[in-house]
Amino acid sequence: MLDSMRILVADDSVVSRRLLEVTLKKWGYETVSASDGTQAWDVLKRDDTPQLAILDWVMPGFTGPEVCQNVRQVSRDRYVYIILLTSKSLKDDLIQGMNAGADDYLTKPFDPTELQVRLRAGRRVIDLQTELVAAREALREQATHDALTHLLNRASVLEVLTRELGRAEREESPMSMVICDLDKFKSVNDRFGHLAGDAVLKQAARRMQTNIRTYDSVGRYGGEEFIVVLPGCDAEAAAGHAERLRAALEAEPMDLGETVGGSIQVTASFGVASVGGRTYTTPQALLHCADEALYESKRAGRNRVTVWNPAQAVQQDQPRAGHGETVLEPAAEIVPSHGR
Ligand SMILES: [Mg+2]
Repeated sequence: MLDSMRILVADDSVVSRRLLEVTLKKWGYETVSASDGTQAWDVLKRDDTPQLAILDWVMPGFTGPEVCQNVRQVSRDRYVYIILLTSKSLKDDLIQGMNAGADDYLTKPFDPTELQVRLRAGRRVIDLQTELVAAREALREQATHDALTHLLNRASVLEVLTRELGRAEREESPMSMVICDLDKFKSVNDRFGHLAGDAVLKQAARRMQTNIRTYDSVGRYGGEEFIVVLPGCDAEAAAGHAERLRAALEAEPMDLGETVGGSIQVTASFGVASVGGRTYTTPQALLHCADEALYESKRAGRNRVTVWNPAQAVQQDQPRAGHGETVLEPAAEIVPSHGR
Protein backbone atom coordinates (compact mmCIF):
# COMPACT_ATOMS: atom_id res chain seq x y z
CA MET A 1 0.00 0.00 0.00
CA LEU A 2 1.55 3.19 -1.19
CA ASP A 3 -0.17 5.35 1.41
CA SER A 4 1.48 3.57 4.28
CA MET A 5 4.85 4.44 2.78
CA ARG A 6 4.60 8.17 3.47
CA ILE A 7 5.69 9.32 6.90
CA LEU A 8 5.41 12.66 8.61
CA VAL A 9 8.51 13.45 10.65
CA ALA A 10 7.92 16.28 13.10
CA ASP A 11 10.83 17.40 15.24
CA ASP A 12 12.12 20.85 16.10
CA SER A 13 15.69 19.60 16.22
CA VAL A 14 17.21 19.73 12.74
CA VAL A 15 19.79 17.07 13.56
CA SER A 16 17.25 14.63 14.96
CA ARG A 17 14.87 15.25 12.02
CA ARG A 18 17.57 14.75 9.40
CA LEU A 19 18.75 11.55 11.05
CA LEU A 20 15.21 10.16 10.96
CA GLU A 21 14.63 11.26 7.39
CA VAL A 22 17.86 9.70 6.13
CA THR A 23 17.08 6.45 7.91
CA LEU A 24 13.49 6.31 6.63
CA LYS A 25 14.49 7.11 3.06
CA LYS A 26 17.05 4.32 3.18
CA TRP A 27 14.16 1.96 4.02
CA GLY A 28 12.15 3.21 1.05
CA TYR A 29 9.79 5.57 2.86
CA GLU A 30 8.86 8.98 1.52
CA THR A 31 9.05 11.65 4.20
CA VAL A 32 7.16 14.86 4.86
CA SER A 33 8.82 17.07 7.47
CA ALA A 34 7.57 19.57 10.00
CA SER A 35 9.75 21.62 12.30
CA ASP A 36 7.12 22.32 14.96
CA GLY A 37 3.77 21.13 16.26
CA THR A 38 1.74 23.67 14.32
CA GLN A 39 3.25 22.57 11.01
CA ALA A 40 2.71 18.94 11.96
CA TRP A 41 -0.98 19.56 12.66
CA ASP A 42 -1.30 21.47 9.37
CA VAL A 43 -0.09 18.39 7.52
CA LEU A 44 -2.14 15.90 9.55
CA LYS A 45 -5.45 17.69 9.18
CA ARG A 46 -5.28 17.56 5.39
CA ASP A 47 -7.33 14.91 3.59
CA ASP A 48 -4.21 13.48 2.01
CA THR A 49 -2.21 13.30 5.24
CA PRO A 50 0.47 10.62 5.50
CA GLN A 51 -0.95 7.75 7.54
CA LEU A 52 2.21 7.27 9.55
CA ALA A 53 3.58 10.01 11.77
CA ILE A 54 6.60 10.23 14.03
CA LEU A 55 6.17 13.14 16.40
CA ASP A 56 8.70 14.60 18.77
CA TRP A 57 7.28 15.14 22.24
CA VAL A 58 8.62 18.62 22.98
CA MET A 59 8.08 21.05 20.11
CA PRO A 60 7.05 24.70 19.78
CA GLY A 61 3.45 25.29 18.76
CA PHE A 62 1.76 22.05 19.75
CA THR A 63 3.56 19.33 21.68
CA GLY A 64 3.51 15.80 20.28
CA PRO A 65 0.69 14.66 22.61
CA GLU A 66 -1.33 17.78 21.74
CA VAL A 67 -1.00 17.01 18.05
CA CYS A 68 -2.18 13.46 18.85
CA GLN A 69 -5.22 14.80 20.63
CA ASN A 70 -6.07 17.07 17.69
CA VAL A 71 -5.79 14.19 15.24
CA ARG A 72 -8.01 11.89 17.33
CA GLN A 73 -10.66 14.57 17.75
CA VAL A 74 -11.41 14.68 14.06
CA SER A 75 -13.07 11.43 13.12
CA ARG A 76 -12.46 10.22 9.62
CA ASP A 77 -11.90 7.09 7.62
CA ARG A 78 -8.21 7.72 7.10
CA TYR A 79 -6.45 6.48 10.21
CA VAL A 80 -3.13 8.06 11.17
CA TYR A 81 -0.76 5.80 13.08
CA ILE A 82 1.27 7.94 15.45
CA ILE A 83 4.57 7.15 17.11
CA LEU A 84 5.74 9.60 19.76
CA LEU A 85 9.46 10.10 19.93
CA THR A 86 11.02 11.53 23.03
CA SER A 87 14.01 11.62 25.28
CA LYS A 88 11.73 11.23 28.27
CA SER A 89 11.67 7.65 29.33
CA LEU A 90 9.54 7.74 32.42
CA LYS A 91 6.61 5.38 32.63
CA ASP A 92 4.20 8.22 33.45
CA ASP A 93 5.05 9.93 30.20
CA LEU A 94 4.31 6.80 28.25
CA ILE A 95 0.84 6.59 29.76
CA GLN A 96 0.24 10.26 29.09
CA GLY A 97 1.31 9.88 25.47
CA MET A 98 -0.86 6.84 24.87
CA ASN A 99 -3.79 8.56 26.55
CA ALA A 100 -3.37 11.45 24.15
CA GLY A 101 -4.01 9.01 21.31
CA ALA A 102 -0.54 7.86 20.29
CA ASP A 103 -0.27 4.31 18.98
CA ASP A 104 3.30 3.73 19.97
CA TYR A 105 6.22 5.31 21.73
CA LEU A 106 9.94 5.35 21.13
CA THR A 107 12.72 6.89 23.19
CA LYS A 108 15.55 8.99 21.81
CA PRO A 109 18.15 8.27 20.68
CA PHE A 110 16.15 5.79 18.64
CA ASP A 111 17.32 2.30 17.87
CA PRO A 112 16.86 1.83 14.07
CA THR A 113 15.89 -1.84 14.34
CA GLU A 114 13.27 -1.03 16.93
CA LEU A 115 11.89 1.80 14.81
CA GLN A 116 11.73 -0.49 11.79
CA VAL A 117 9.62 -3.17 13.50
CA ARG A 118 7.34 -0.57 15.03
CA LEU A 119 6.73 1.00 11.63
CA ARG A 120 5.93 -2.43 10.27
CA ALA A 121 3.30 -2.88 13.00
CA GLY A 122 1.90 0.54 12.10
CA ARG A 123 1.61 -0.37 8.45
CA ARG A 124 -0.26 -3.53 9.34
CA VAL A 125 -2.80 -1.49 11.29
CA ILE A 126 -3.21 1.00 8.44
CA ASP A 127 -3.62 -1.73 5.83
CA LEU A 128 -6.26 -3.47 7.94
CA GLN A 129 -8.06 -0.19 8.44
CA THR A 130 -8.00 0.49 4.69
CA GLU A 131 -9.45 -2.94 3.97
CA LEU A 132 -12.16 -2.38 6.55
CA VAL A 133 -13.19 0.93 5.04
CA ALA A 134 -13.24 -0.61 1.56
CA ALA A 135 -15.40 -3.50 2.80
CA ARG A 136 -17.80 -1.10 4.46
CA GLU A 137 -18.04 0.98 1.28
CA ALA A 138 -18.75 -2.16 -0.74
CA LEU A 139 -21.55 -3.07 1.69
CA ARG A 140 -23.00 0.41 1.47
CA GLU A 141 -22.91 0.22 -2.33
CA GLN A 142 -24.66 -3.16 -2.20
CA ALA A 143 -27.36 -1.88 0.12
CA THR A 144 -28.18 1.24 -1.85
CA HIS A 145 -27.65 0.19 -5.47
CA ASP A 146 -29.30 -2.18 -7.86
CA ALA A 147 -27.08 -5.20 -8.48
CA LEU A 148 -27.81 -5.42 -12.21
CA THR A 149 -27.74 -1.82 -13.38
CA HIS A 150 -25.68 -0.25 -10.56
CA LEU A 151 -28.20 2.58 -10.43
CA LEU A 152 -29.73 3.52 -7.08
CA ASN A 153 -32.16 0.85 -5.98
CA ARG A 154 -35.86 1.42 -5.35
CA ALA A 155 -35.55 2.29 -1.68
CA SER A 156 -32.66 4.70 -2.29
CA VAL A 157 -34.19 6.57 -5.18
CA LEU A 158 -37.43 6.97 -3.21
CA GLU A 159 -35.35 8.32 -0.35
CA VAL A 160 -33.76 10.86 -2.71
CA LEU A 161 -37.21 11.81 -4.00
CA THR A 162 -38.50 12.39 -0.48
CA ARG A 163 -35.43 14.42 0.49
CA GLU A 164 -35.48 16.60 -2.64
CA LEU A 165 -39.19 17.21 -2.34
CA GLY A 166 -38.68 18.35 1.24
CA ARG A 167 -35.83 20.60 0.21
CA ALA A 168 -37.82 22.12 -2.66
CA GLU A 169 -40.65 22.94 -0.29
CA ARG A 170 -38.34 24.51 2.29
CA GLU A 171 -36.58 26.59 -0.33
CA GLU A 172 -39.75 27.23 -2.34
CA SER A 173 -37.95 26.09 -5.45
CA PRO A 174 -39.25 23.87 -8.22
CA MET A 175 -38.36 20.21 -8.54
CA SER A 176 -39.44 17.47 -10.87
CA MET A 177 -39.42 13.74 -11.19
CA VAL A 178 -39.53 11.56 -14.25
CA ILE A 179 -40.73 8.00 -14.40
CA CYS A 180 -39.59 5.96 -17.36
CA ASP A 181 -40.72 2.58 -18.54
CA LEU A 182 -39.11 0.64 -21.39
CA ASP A 183 -41.69 -0.06 -24.06
CA LYS A 184 -42.86 -3.65 -24.53
CA PHE A 185 -39.92 -4.89 -22.55
CA LYS A 186 -41.67 -8.14 -21.72
CA SER A 187 -41.39 -9.13 -25.38
CA VAL A 188 -37.59 -8.77 -25.20
CA ASN A 189 -37.50 -11.29 -22.36
CA ASP A 190 -40.01 -13.54 -24.10
CA ARG A 191 -38.26 -13.52 -27.46
CA PHE A 192 -34.61 -13.46 -26.45
CA GLY A 193 -34.54 -14.64 -22.84
CA HIS A 194 -33.70 -12.95 -19.58
CA LEU A 195 -29.98 -12.62 -20.23
CA ALA A 196 -30.76 -10.47 -23.24
CA GLY A 197 -33.30 -8.58 -21.18
CA ASP A 198 -30.66 -7.91 -18.54
CA ALA A 199 -28.21 -6.71 -21.19
CA VAL A 200 -30.81 -4.23 -22.44
CA LEU A 201 -31.58 -3.01 -18.92
CA LYS A 202 -27.89 -2.40 -18.27
CA GLN A 203 -27.49 -0.37 -21.44
CA ALA A 204 -30.65 1.60 -20.80
CA ALA A 205 -29.39 2.37 -17.30
CA ARG A 206 -25.99 3.47 -18.59
CA ARG A 207 -27.53 5.74 -21.22
CA MET A 208 -29.74 7.39 -18.63
CA GLN A 209 -26.91 7.77 -16.15
CA THR A 210 -24.70 9.48 -18.73
CA ASN A 211 -27.49 11.80 -19.84
CA ILE A 212 -28.47 13.33 -16.54
CA ARG A 213 -26.87 16.29 -14.79
CA THR A 214 -24.44 15.57 -11.94
CA TYR A 215 -26.98 16.68 -9.31
CA ASP A 216 -29.81 14.56 -10.69
CA SER A 217 -30.40 11.02 -9.45
CA VAL A 218 -31.58 8.05 -11.40
CA GLY A 219 -32.69 4.77 -9.86
CA ARG A 220 -34.26 1.49 -10.84
CA TYR A 221 -37.81 1.61 -9.56
CA GLY A 222 -38.88 -1.82 -10.67
CA GLY A 223 -38.33 -4.36 -13.45
CA GLU A 224 -37.95 -2.02 -16.43
CA GLU A 225 -39.07 1.15 -14.68
CA PHE A 226 -36.73 3.95 -13.72
CA ILE A 227 -37.10 7.13 -11.72
CA VAL A 228 -35.15 10.32 -12.27
CA VAL A 229 -35.18 13.05 -9.64
CA LEU A 230 -34.46 16.54 -10.98
CA PRO A 231 -33.84 19.14 -8.27
CA GLY A 232 -34.45 22.75 -9.25
CA CYS A 233 -36.27 21.81 -12.47
CA ASP A 234 -39.70 23.12 -13.37
CA ALA A 235 -42.04 21.09 -15.59
CA GLU A 236 -40.79 22.60 -18.83
CA ALA A 237 -37.11 21.99 -18.07
CA ALA A 238 -37.90 18.50 -16.80
CA ALA A 239 -39.77 17.71 -20.01
CA GLY A 240 -36.65 18.78 -21.90
CA HIS A 241 -34.47 16.47 -19.81
CA ALA A 242 -36.91 13.59 -20.25
CA GLU A 243 -36.93 14.18 -23.98
CA ARG A 244 -33.14 13.98 -24.02
CA LEU A 245 -33.29 10.66 -22.15
CA ARG A 246 -35.92 9.38 -24.56
CA ALA A 247 -33.75 10.32 -27.54
CA ALA A 248 -30.67 8.74 -25.95
CA LEU A 249 -32.46 5.42 -25.50
CA GLU A 250 -33.83 5.48 -29.04
CA ALA A 251 -30.61 6.74 -30.66
CA GLU A 252 -28.99 3.37 -31.28
CA PRO A 253 -30.13 -0.23 -31.05
CA MET A 254 -29.12 -2.04 -27.87
CA ASP A 255 -26.94 -5.15 -27.87
CA LEU A 256 -28.64 -8.31 -26.71
CA GLY A 257 -25.46 -9.57 -25.06
CA GLU A 258 -22.87 -12.17 -26.03
CA THR A 259 -25.00 -15.27 -25.53
CA VAL A 260 -27.79 -14.09 -27.81
CA GLY A 261 -25.95 -11.76 -30.15
CA GLY A 262 -27.41 -9.06 -32.32
CA SER A 263 -29.21 -5.95 -31.22
CA ILE A 264 -32.69 -4.57 -30.88
CA GLN A 265 -34.31 -1.15 -31.11
CA VAL A 266 -35.58 -0.15 -27.68
CA THR A 267 -37.75 2.82 -26.80
CA ALA A 268 -39.24 4.09 -23.57
CA SER A 269 -42.23 6.10 -22.40
CA PHE A 270 -41.93 8.90 -19.88
CA GLY A 271 -44.11 10.65 -17.35
CA VAL A 272 -43.08 13.95 -15.78
CA ALA A 273 -44.49 15.49 -12.62
CA SER A 274 -43.37 18.71 -10.98
CA VAL A 275 -43.85 20.86 -7.94
CA GLY A 276 -43.12 24.55 -7.58
CA GLY A 277 -44.74 27.90 -7.16
CA ARG A 278 -46.59 27.34 -3.92
CA THR A 279 -47.84 23.89 -4.67
CA TYR A 280 -46.08 21.05 -2.94
CA THR A 281 -47.18 17.53 -2.29
CA THR A 282 -46.15 14.21 -0.83
CA PRO A 283 -43.72 11.86 -2.58
CA GLN A 284 -46.57 9.36 -2.96
CA ALA A 285 -48.79 11.91 -4.67
CA LEU A 286 -46.01 13.14 -6.96
CA LEU A 287 -45.16 9.59 -7.90
CA HIS A 288 -48.81 8.96 -8.63
CA CYS A 289 -48.96 12.03 -10.92
CA ALA A 290 -45.81 10.97 -12.80
CA ASP A 291 -47.29 7.51 -13.17
CA GLU A 292 -50.50 8.98 -14.58
CA ALA A 293 -48.46 10.91 -17.12
CA LEU A 294 -46.48 7.80 -17.99
CA TYR A 295 -49.70 5.93 -18.53
CA GLU A 296 -50.82 8.69 -20.87
CA SER A 297 -47.58 8.27 -22.87
CA LYS A 298 -48.28 4.55 -23.17
CA ARG A 299 -51.85 5.15 -24.20
CA ALA A 300 -50.89 7.70 -26.82
CA GLY A 301 -48.56 5.26 -28.57
CA ARG A 302 -45.40 4.95 -26.39
CA ASN A 303 -41.91 6.39 -27.03
CA ARG A 304 -42.91 9.84 -25.85
CA VAL A 305 -42.85 12.24 -22.91
CA THR A 306 -46.00 13.38 -21.14
CA VAL A 307 -46.07 16.08 -18.49
CA TRP A 308 -48.70 15.55 -15.85
CA ASN A 309 -51.37 18.19 -15.68
CA PRO A 310 -54.32 18.29 -13.28
CA ALA A 311 -56.93 18.12 -16.08
CA GLN A 312 -55.63 14.68 -16.90
CA ALA A 313 -56.35 13.42 -13.43
CA VAL A 314 -60.08 13.28 -14.02
CA GLN A 315 -59.96 10.96 -17.01
CA GLN A 316 -59.88 7.67 -15.16
CA ASP A 317 -62.10 5.77 -17.59
CA GLN A 318 -59.29 3.70 -19.12
CA PRO A 319 -58.82 0.28 -17.56
CA ARG A 320 -55.38 -0.08 -16.04
CA ALA A 321 -54.75 -3.79 -15.83
CA GLY A 322 -52.16 -4.84 -13.29
CA HIS A 323 -51.06 -1.33 -12.74
CA GLY A 324 -51.97 0.55 -9.67
CA GLU A 325 -49.20 0.38 -7.13
CA THR A 326 -48.00 3.85 -6.43
CA VAL A 327 -47.49 3.21 -2.75
CA LEU A 328 -44.25 4.71 -1.57
CA GLU A 329 -42.61 2.13 0.60
CA PRO A 330 -38.92 1.54 1.05
CA ALA A 331 -38.97 -2.03 -0.17
CA ALA A 332 -35.82 -3.12 -1.94
CA GLU A 333 -37.37 -5.85 -4.06
CA ILE A 334 -38.18 -5.34 -7.68
CA VAL A 335 -41.82 -4.92 -8.61
CA PRO A 336 -42.99 -7.25 -11.36
CA SER A 337 -43.06 -6.10 -14.93
CA HIS A 338 -46.40 -4.86 -16.12
CA GLY A 339 -45.68 -5.78 -19.71
CA ARG A 340 -46.87 -2.48 -20.99
MG1 LIG B 1 11.98 18.74 20.53
